[in-house]
Amino acid sequence: MLVVMRAQATPEEVQAVCEYIEVLGFRPHPLPGAQRTAIGITGNQGEVDRGNLEEFPGVVEVIRVTKPYKLASRDVKEEDTVVHFPASGTCPAVSIGGHDLAVVAGPCSIETRDQAFTIAEQVAAAGAQFFRGGAYKPRSSPYAFQGLGLDALKIMSEIREKFGLRIITEAIDNESLELVSDLADVIQIGARNMQNFALLKRAGMQRKPVLLKRGLSATLEELLMSAEYIMSEGNYQVILCERGVRTFADHARNTLDLSIVPAVRRLSHLPILVDPSHGTGRRDSVLPMARAAVAVGADGILVEVHHQPEKALSDGPQSIYPAQFARMMDDLEQIAPIVGRRLPRGIHVASVS
Ligand code: PEP
Ligand code: MN
Repeated sequence: MLVVMRAQATPEEVQAVCEYIEVLGFRPHPLPGAQRTAIGITGNQGEVDRGNLEEFPGVVEVIRVTKPYKLASRDVKEEDTVVHFPASGTCPAVSIGGHDLAVVAGPCSIETRDQAFTIAEQVAAAGAQFFRGGAYKPRSSPYAFQGLGLDALKIMSEIREKFGLRIITEAIDNESLELVSDLADVIQIGARNMQNFALLKRAGMQRKPVLLKRGLSATLEELLMSAEYIMSEGNYQVILCERGVRTFADHARNTLDLSIVPAVRRLSHLPILVDPSHGTGRRDSVLPMARAAVAVGADGILVEVHHQPEKALSDGPQSIYPAQFARMMDDLEQIAPIVGRRLPRGIHVASVS
């Protein structure tokens, strides 16, 4: 259910409706918009008695949301969600969603301090706003490199300070979630955990934005339902990420499903990034697919970069060289205005030593 408030409704009127929803034993989700505030109701099994709610001052109407996902739906919030990161420390203000494109770059895994710093310096110099790197790695083999854990999080915190890059890294369980939530700017939930509902709920209780990657064979509805799990706990800062799905194609690791981008736009207000690295698994495909992703309207790109990919402990074959990353940024900068966007660059502090 959705309670639509009048444009002139006062904060007290919104508050009174929220309190009444709580009295009924449900959870209110006030969703401020440019035109008006709407209040989503979750926790109800059947229909909520709309009669009483419609009597509250400031209420225009109470409508039933028929989609299985509510808070993630455009029916509930018309305006695009923009996740803001206000300026802090050496980091300038940046955002994901809205007019400016966001670029997340870095190695698959944090391997050593030197490796991470070398890559961070180069992606910052080329204009990335976010640095990625796995501290906790969900690997197909238990014998493969599992990540440096807390040490990697500490290295990334230093990188944020030195280069003014925001940090995105994956949480794989409750323990890593707490640490990632404390030390990173964005909590990544990986493809393999997209339907780990207990983890999604925990991520929903954090007050950090969550980057939710599409599962290996997940439909769009399943992706949005997973976003709903996070939002239903009160964390509305969800960023979706298309990273390719399993198909019969044998020319690439996965099939990057760019057609999901306009479909997400239609059904949801949440921003969506595209990851052409996991989406193709091939270095030579990353640049063309990144260009295509911006052309179809993605809110940004997540890409794996390594200065010595042949020595990388994970995902070397799909990691691009720093020089290729710089070229990618040049290309995206040119494509962005054609689709009404801008690639902000040069706001980093890469020269700080
Ligand atoms: C990653 O970003 O390195 C990663 C493991 O991604 P995914 O969950 O999409 O496989
Ligand atoms: Mn990877």
